[in-house]
Amino acid sequence: MRTLDSLAEAVGTLDGTRVIVRCDLNVPLRDGVITDDGRVRASLPTLNVLVNAGARVIVCSHLGRPDGVPDPRYSLAPVAQRLSELLGKPVAFARDTVGESAQEAVAALEDGGVVVLENLRFNPGETVKDDAERRAFAEQLAALGDAMVSDGFGVVHRKQASVYELAQILPSAAGLLIETELDVLDRLTENPERPYTVVLGGSKVSDKLGVISHLLPRVDRLLVGGGMLFTFLAAEGHAVASSLLEKDQLDTVRGYIAEAGERGVELVLPTDVVVAERFAADAAHEVVAADAIEQSAFGAAGIGLDIGPDTAARFAEAIRGSRTVFWNGPMGVFEFPAFASGTKAVAEALASVDGLGVVGGGDSAAAVRQLGFADDRFGHISTGGGASLEFLEGKRLPGLTVLGWE
Ligand code: ADP
Ligand code: MG
Repeated sequence: MRTLDSLAEAVGTLDGTRVIVRCDLNVPLRDGVITDDGRVRASLPTLNVLVNAGARVIVCSHLGRPDGVPDPRYSLAPVAQRLSELLGKPVAFARDTVGESAQEAVAALEDGGVVVLENLRFNPGETVKDDAERRAFAEQLAALGDAMVSDGFGVVHRKQASVYELAQILPSAAGLLIETELDVLDRLTENPERPYTVVLGGSKVSDKLGVISHLLPRVDRLLVGGGMLFTFLAAEGHAVASSLLEKDQLDTVRGYIAEAGERGVELVLPTDVVVAERFAADAAHEVVAADAIEQSAFGAAGIGLDIGPDTAARFAEAIRGSRTVFWNGPMGVFEFPAFASGTKAVAEALASVDGLGVVGGGDSAAAVRQLGFADDRFGHISTGGGASLEFLEGKRLPGLTVLGWE
């Protein structure tokens, strides 16, 4: 894969060169305020290298899903401001992506200067299915720079103009964030230190089928929590009341249970769950055995919203006894404090793993930060949810192939 060093060679010198950096600055915002700046911080190493090399740095990113039209709710202006604070230097902001404002801001850049372009997805060409239309938008972007660095790991599984076509048009290379993410993911797939445990949770089994089938032959233990645990319990013949259940996945899940048995993978399912009266932060709730969910005080109306304390303790022990752990998907509805205990127990155990502990997934990363864990307590927090899952599924990602990755 082409890296920053090879880019410097390809363009002669980075000094004075206009470098477009495709970052993933898709941060969560509440009323225009960034609630988690993890992705902005993750983009700093590459930006600092370019700034120090005297490049004229043009940062572009998407934010949310504005659907191809400008929408002030999804403006990158607050992100540009935060980036300026973190870089400790002024950062210009263009009010459009490839229009007059962008062109003027780029023309005004000095060596080592930084500008952030407005949200890529304010332009339909960024994500449009039609190859020619995407290419046309990528050409407009390319006209702003002399070289391109791809560093938005969260979008490398997408064939989008700024990720794929732009990297074909300009001399391009991967940035340091992509290099770091790939190093960690490689350690999860090539000869991981054992025992190797994967912890899966989150809302849907159907989102994680690919990763389960790809990882089953590779792991020693698979722990299942979150919304998907109920499809596993149902597959084993237990009633799950009104909990999240994907009936159409029951056969697939039975297949996984059988495969785990054949391969000697220890499949750890919850023995108890927290059942609530309804889906709400202040809902009445109680802990019941995993095979007695309908016997809770709420009967058939009960909804499982977290793993129980016994399960949390067993999961924590399995995690602590591992040398490599990959965790994707919260153990419960952590957004409601009453149902965050399982997620917290798993995060706590992961933070004390003697070996490599990786958190993958947008909501999982948000969960650990919301629960007050500092990033450096984990081996790695991946900035890419979908991208890291697709990588672990063994898929070839277009945004990496285009950079010469095999
Ligand atoms: P990630 O973004 O880390 O990959 P997902 O998007 O798969 O994670 O899932 C995150 C969501 O799963 C959270 O919003 C959480 O509330 C939800 N979730 C976890 N457990 C349950 C449950 N028992 N019932 C319903 N939703 C759940
Ligand atoms: Mg998610």
